[in-house]
Amino acid sequence: MATTTRVTPLPSSVDVLVVGAGFGGLAAAHEVRRTHPELSVHVVERGSSAGGVWRDNTYPGCACDVPTSLYSLSSADEPDWRHSYGRQPELRRYLDGVAAATDAPFTFDCELTDARWDDARARWTVTTTQGTVECSVLVSATGALSTPELPDVPGLDRFTGTVFHSAHWNHDHDLTGKRVATIGTGASAIQFVPEIVDRVEHVTVFQRTPAWVVPRVDRTIGRLERALYRRLPFTHRITRGLVYLYREGYVVLMARKPALLPIATFVAKRHMRRQVRDAALRRRLTPDYSIGCKRILLSNTWFPALQHENTTLTGSLREITDRGAIDADGVEHPVDTIVFATGFTPTEPPVAHRIVGRDGRTLAQHWNHSPSAYRGVSVHGFPNLLLMYGPNTNLGHSSIVLMLEAQARYLASMLDHMRTRGIASCDVTELAEHRYRAEMDSELERSVWNSGGCSSWYIDASGRNSVMWPKFTWSYRAMMRRFDPADYAFTRDVASSERNSA
Ligand code: NAP
Repeated sequence: MATTTRVTPLPSSVDVLVVGAGFGGLAAAHEVRRTHPELSVHVVERGSSAGGVWRDNTYPGCACDVPTSLYSLSSADEPDWRHSYGRQPELRRYLDGVAAATDAPFTFDCELTDARWDDARARWTVTTTQGTVECSVLVSATGALSTPELPDVPGLDRFTGTVFHSAHWNHDHDLTGKRVATIGTGASAIQFVPEIVDRVEHVTVFQRTPAWVVPRVDRTIGRLERALYRRLPFTHRITRGLVYLYREGYVVLMARKPALLPIATFVAKRHMRRQVRDAALRRRLTPDYSIGCKRILLSNTWFPALQHENTTLTGSLREITDRGAIDADGVEHPVDTIVFATGFTPTEPPVAHRIVGRDGRTLAQHWNHSPSAYRGVSVHGFPNLLLMYGPNTNLGHSSIVLMLEAQARYLASMLDHMRTRGIASCDVTELAEHRYRAEMDSELERSVWNSGGCSSWYIDASGRNSVMWPKFTWSYRAMMRRFDPADYAFTRDVASSERNSA
């Protein structure tokens, strides 16, 4: 198995171009190489290495909040995880290994700036920061949580201290003895605040909305257990299967029978009661929306960190001054560092402004602030484009890797169909796209994400849930097993038809 990633200059033409070298891009490139060795594949990546969010997010305490046993590609199983919730360095190492083992060339520091579909030639012309490349099939694997959201807070430009986003942690800025403001109390903040609280002089946590937090049942995976998984891989498959089944059960609570959610609320409230003695503080930390409406957070250290002598918990951020941050009550907190842990822009992906389809409109114009895609991967008017981690494929209960693998297999099945029938382009029909979108809307209607009374990144600017997948992951994987030609319109590859009839 290769130990270093194959890096080459950008070619001028390729059969399949994959944009992004995170989990999604690697899964796609890996699957195309495995199933279609006759096709050329190339991966372009705006960063300097593979890894996606696990390369970018290096904040203290960064770890996966999905059990690691579900967090590897089945084609590149990893029996050697050290923790039941993998830490960022081991996840990054794993992805570097997958990139090296993927028999496809990569060009790093290469950002897609424009991609245009040429109907006459049935090709995409893709412009990047390192030149232009043409391809027959374009795979957009740029990630849903890859572009940090930095809110436009009044006064931010006046601040004289250091500012950064949690996804681009500034390791050159030593926080020892600093007065820090952290904005946001989501999945990222609850991981890094407990890690920094001991060494800062003070941390002021700006909480706009409290989160439901449950215990993190984490453990180190010992040498013996790892050796067992390596020697007898079926034992790892059994563990993986059991964790998988247990996690699928969450869908019943979140999407099917929200009436059962009080069970989870009980667990979260008991966790808070055990860790927070002060009833007034408990009230400030108790959400007023249903559990599961926003991502449920796992932590044993968040509540203790909020009660640490170095911490002040306050309300939302109103304004920033040259040396401080003003909360909703008008109180100014003197700070020299501001860390925005304010999330990402999954429903407004920047790449959507750069992909231009059949009628000259961008993906962003087609979506008009509410992304949707047939099966989460195909968009009408954008032939031979496949989205990885596209609309309505995010999970609240299990590993996104399961969804990405299903999408990679669908891509391979689409390529099969094109190759065996001499097809130059396939474009999902408008009817199929609309039907699928209506089905998603109806399935999501009763879910806690839509009806739980919160505002979250699952809901787009139009008020639609364009992020979550509402069913079991096995339903998605079964649906994605085969490309469905009935829902696509095709053009034929004239050269290949002529070859076949000669
Ligand atoms: P997030 O969950 O979207 O949380 C953002 C936080 O910032 C929220 O508390 C939000 O408050 C607050 N916020 C946003 N804009 C604000 C503003 N203008 N003023 C004040 N507060 C503001 O972001 P995240 O914590 O980075 O996590 C994003 C997603 O990444 C997660 O849901 C998860 O899927 C993924 N993630 C995963 C892991 C993992 O372990 N696998 C770790 C980190 C992140 P409101 O709630 O009021 O909007």
